[in-house]
Amino acid sequence: MTDTMIARLPEVDAFLSRASGSFIDGEHLSGSGRHADIIDPSNALSLTRLGLADEAIVDRAVASAKRCFDNGIWRGMKPAQRERILLKFADLVEAHGEELAQLESLNQGKSIHIARMVDVGFSVDFMRYTAGWTTKLEGQTTSVSIGMPEGAEFHAYTLRQPVGVVAGIVPWNFPFMITLWKVIPALAAGCSIVIKPATETPLSALRLAELALEAGVPAGTFNVVVGAGSIAGQYLAEHPDVRKVTFTGSTAVGKQIGHAAVDHMARFSLELGGKNPMLVLEDADLDKAVHGALMAGLLNQGQVCAAASRFYVHRSLHDAFCERLHGAIQGMSVGPGLDPAAQLNPLVSRRHQQSVLAHIERAQAEGAKVLRGAAVPEEGFYVSPVVLSGVTQQMTVAREEVFGPVLSVIPFDKIEEGLAMVNDSDLGLAASLWTNDLSQAMRLIPRIEAGTVWVNTHVTLDASLPFGGVKQSGIGREFGREAVEACTELKSVCIAY
Ligand code: NAD
Repeated sequence: MTDTMIARLPEVDAFLSRASGSFIDGEHLSGSGRHADIIDPSNALSLTRLGLADEAIVDRAVASAKRCFDNGIWRGMKPAQRERILLKFADLVEAHGEELAQLESLNQGKSIHIARMVDVGFSVDFMRYTAGWTTKLEGQTTSVSIGMPEGAEFHAYTLRQPVGVVAGIVPWNFPFMITLWKVIPALAAGCSIVIKPATETPLSALRLAELALEAGVPAGTFNVVVGAGSIAGQYLAEHPDVRKVTFTGSTAVGKQIGHAAVDHMARFSLELGGKNPMLVLEDADLDKAVHGALMAGLLNQGQVCAAASRFYVHRSLHDAFCERLHGAIQGMSVGPGLDPAAQLNPLVSRRHQQSVLAHIERAQAEGAKVLRGAAVPEEGFYVSPVVLSGVTQQMTVAREEVFGPVLSVIPFDKIEEGLAMVNDSDLGLAASLWTNDLSQAMRLIPRIEAGTVWVNTHVTLDASLPFGGVKQSGIGREFGREAVEACTELKSVCIAY
């Protein structure tokens, strides 16, 4: 620990003593059954202890959301009024930005800079952009050619209506931001929602539910159940009163959720894992590519679904690329998220730390050369970043998602060979191409199998740009009009006159 640690705001401590478990119908529940410690990943100490939801608590949350949907108070409001409430919610998030950033940094382990800029900063923009769709959801009139009964005329149109109760299941890497990716489109569409955060990181979702209430979202419209994935999460996805499930997390759990949703014909969208490549062509600007790789691979300690983890670098640049990455990771300062001087922070949990370390050991055993980064403290869930050179496409580290600070570099000679390795993956969330040759970029973009392709940048998201995966990386899109429309049903109306 350094002496540059920032002091915790009193509001953060006040919230930690107030939170007790799930948040239903506008109130914190203490829960009488199982409890779990919510851990600070920088020192493995408990921040607070929360009651865990069992099936009965999930039933209560869904019943509350359904009651709010059925009474029509939220969905029946004029769209402009709902938009104003969502904009007020965004204002409150902005006004409480430092408190929320500290809470997220403490619970997730991430850098306070990232929490301020990305988690809170980007989210406020996202909230305002998405709130705007509240007043812009539209159907179409269609030109029908119905021939009977003879002489009848028809007027036909489509209507977008809120789908009903939405369940949002959220992972631990960006718990604050991804909660909002689920909540705001659902509320903009007129739905009510139950969020289930990851067991490790429930705090920011609970604080957001309080702020939504303060902004004027009716109690019970936005509920949070704190509980285990296999109990509360599974039961929520299976719940017959849930009409849409929106999930972000691993591919394995995503498939279970898809099956559970289909069983009761709930709509679903799945944002799943990535094994995202960066393809660095011979003519690329090496400075920019190295800087981009550090950002793309190490943001949030690599715990980013869109992080780059496979770096295909033209052989003429390969050695310099590895050396420069290695130099950069050796010089990084390490510490808790609340230390603004720290460039590397802990991973979210001991379980995840052990999983990332096991991936590194396995890569070494399979023949990769491990270039290690800065030393890390023993206390807390730190992992020193590594650059792996001598990686081949067959190694486990080139195929499985690690979700940590592990950068695998693989050389290629011909562009077609690089492109084939980029597409040689079951996953297809995002990819980036590094080149100054515009014609080459334009030819390659359509051939890259990914939901997002960046050129000379990586992990740059915007609320207006749909985000999601192809292949095993998921179904559906976050952001933009698509995310809000995914919380609606399209009704067709045909009037004879
Ligand atoms: P996870 O799939 O284990 O858990 C995600 C959420 O699902 C958690 O809230 C968890 O409690 C819940 N859950 C677990 N089992 C469940 C079940 N049987 N039924 C219902 N819910 C269940 O993933 P994680 O470990 O929390 O997060 C890391 C993974 O998420 C990585 O694979 C990463 O790529 C992926 N991810 C993807 C995106 C994206 O946008 N595509 C974003 C962030 C994370």
